[in-house]
Amino acid sequence: MSSEQTIDFPVSGMTCAACQARVQRALVKAPGVEQASVNLVTRNAHVAFDASVITPEALIETVRATGYGAELPAQAQTVAEEQAATDAAGADEFNALRQKAVVAFTIGLAAMFGPMLLPKSAMMATDTAPLVWWVLLVATAGVMFWAGREFYSHAWAALRHGSADMNTLVSVGTLAAFLFSATATIDPGLFSRRGVVPQVYYEAVVLIIAVVLAGRALEARAVHQTSNALRRLIGLQPKAARIERDGVEVDVPMEQVRHGDVVIVRPGERVPVDGTVVAGTSAIDESMLTGESMPVSKATGDRVFGGTVNGTGAFRASATTVGDDSAIARIVRLMREAQATRAPIQRLADRVSGVFVPVVMAIALATFATWLIVGGTGMLVQATTAAVSVLIIACPCAMGLAVPTAVMVATGKGAELGVLIKGGAALERAGQVDTVVIDKTGTLTEGRPAVTDVLAVDGDTKTLMALAAAAERPSEHPLAAAIVRHAADNAVPTEVAADFTSHTGQGVRARVGSRHVIVGGPRWLEAAGISVAPLTERASQLSSQGKTIVFVAADGQLLGAIAIADRIRPTTRDAIARLKRLGLSVVMLTGDARAAAGHIAAEAGIQDIAAELLPGDKTAEIARRQKEGHVVAMVGDGINDAPALALADVGIAMGSGTDIAIDAGDVTLVRSDLNSVADAIALSRRTMRTTRENLFWAFIYNVIGIPLAAGALYPKYGWLLNPIVASAAMAMSSVSVVMNSLRLKRWRPR
Ligand code: ADP
Ligand code: MG
Repeated sequence: MSSEQTIDFPVSGMTCAACQARVQRALVKAPGVEQASVNLVTRNAHVAFDASVITPEALIETVRATGYGAELPAQAQTVAEEQAATDAAGADEFNALRQKAVVAFTIGLAAMFGPMLLPKSAMMATDTAPLVWWVLLVATAGVMFWAGREFYSHAWAALRHGSADMNTLVSVGTLAAFLFSATATIDPGLFSRRGVVPQVYYEAVVLIIAVVLAGRALEARAVHQTSNALRRLIGLQPKAARIERDGVEVDVPMEQVRHGDVVIVRPGERVPVDGTVVAGTSAIDESMLTGESMPVSKATGDRVFGGTVNGTGAFRASATTVGDDSAIARIVRLMREAQATRAPIQRLADRVSGVFVPVVMAIALATFATWLIVGGTGMLVQATTAAVSVLIIACPCAMGLAVPTAVMVATGKGAELGVLIKGGAALERAGQVDTVVIDKTGTLTEGRPAVTDVLAVDGDTKTLMALAAAAERPSEHPLAAAIVRHAADNAVPTEVAADFTSHTGQGVRARVGSRHVIVGGPRWLEAAGISVAPLTERASQLSSQGKTIVFVAADGQLLGAIAIADRIRPTTRDAIARLKRLGLSVVMLTGDARAAAGHIAAEAGIQDIAAELLPGDKTAEIARRQKEGHVVAMVGDGINDAPALALADVGIAMGSGTDIAIDAGDVTLVRSDLNSVADAIALSRRTMRTTRENLFWAFIYNVIGIPLAAGALYPKYGWLLNPIVASAAMAMSSVSVVMNSLRLKRWRPR
């Protein structure tokens, strides 16, 4: 028996893709671990494991044994606290790195330019080294120990486990330069006797450390910026609420608001909690959740959401969800989880960085050897410079950032637009979609259909409506709601039905009083042996106006039909046109009659329709298109099309209002507007382009940098890459990758 569990915990000390790859490999290799993914940017490990084989504590130990830090997640933290802790850790890291970088830079620049102020003779080594060299030796050792210590300790930890990472490269590079310089300082004769002019590289050692630290500081800050969207959402949650208790209004901190408390919201205030309006009216700006800037009017019975901004009205609302169940908290949690997942495209980067370090070490060694073999010992200085430059410039850190930073910015951007994307894999697939399949009822249309015509075979529309409404009351289908509403509006009394059964996409049956009632599509009645022929002609006439016809029978006798019209959403036509401009083929799926479907499709601007489908036919239709090689996105309301959403390459669930069906689908739309589908696909495509650009930027520095550093241009032009320039180039590659990802923030869907 397997008892699979998942756990998320923070991992500290990772600085590059190789570190991340190593921690991940260690976890995957551990017994009982089914799957592990470690994210360099969020500093998070997500592990699926068999709890009967390995404990969470053992997982933490596994990570620690690789030389990195890990801790069990803190218990009972709210998402807001979790995010705040992540943010604070990020800020601390940035400050510490910046301080060290500034000090190292100051000393490095002094080491570089200071000696220029001294007379030439003070810098020449004869048999003994000049005093300045000794001063620099001490200062450099100090910087290495204080500012660079982490490189060496991590490199050492890695070495003990027979592996290497970016710290290894920086450590070996700086140590080689330092030892070379220290030897020249302690015994210059060792060089001069062999015809090599003794030289020191102290300033290079210090500046390399300074530049690498500065690069990491910039990176830490930029990565921090990628999660701005989450911080913004968290910041929306008010800290206090005004509630009514025992008839008096009191201000209480948020933690004390309970389910059912009546909160008082004054004009211009943020709504403190999710709730239902019980008195008053207002218009609320919900753009922070939905991306829609038009205020939404609210009256008694309407739902309101914590963090949204009240307009000019005042109202009271009864609190429904508080704390971690609120809409904002759920969005934040979903985004955090999404950002912790890995996109498949990252596997490329992972694979490369896993083998990169040993390859680079080998290239550096080969460079060193080639210089000495070709140039003789007289070339020792150049050989060292080249080998050190190769080690420094080759660092694959940018590769580890290429995909996750883009995914983070994109998911944040999506949240801003009211498009919640469940992680890198969903983004990647959404970027490849070429066919969008859309469910009709509730997706293309508003899903608030209204009864327009009631046809009774014997003229008694009242009994017909009473029986139909009673049978439909337990159903959650929009058509059922329309029938029930119509009965209520016309004061038709309805009994409570018994033995209710519902067949998705077909209809319902129930016992109402002593009568056996069947309501549904024509095939549903015919399957029960009831002919709808007497009404076929009038039904098809109404159907061609886009109305859905539902037939009603009792005790095997056809009673009549109810025509129900559902308006197409005002945004649908425009959105379909946008989807087509994106080069997507758009298909409408429906269980409704062909005539009604054709009418709606024409209004929406869709040519490709599949109608009269049972729920099983919907999935078959999607599977057929997938088999033809299409990447299919299915858009539905998540209520009765869950199987189709699950089967599609990308399931897009449209929320009704702000009531987010977060579990359904790969993408959840907060707003009921098909434009969000176009936004989601356009954003995903743009993000994939960004990740490809990022991978290019991450590789290109290494591809060009390594031969230059090795001295490829030396024979012809006498030009050799300075190790300090190499470290700047390496830092720039990370920074340019992160900056490129941050450009996504300014992206507009249209
Ligand atoms: P769509 O594919 O447009 O979303 P559904 O698959 O939900 O529509 O339903 C298809 C058809 O099944 C409807 O047009 C209607 O004829 C019938 N039907 C489904 N549920 C019900 C119900 N609760 N009451 C009456 N008819 C229903
Ligand atoms: Mg439907």
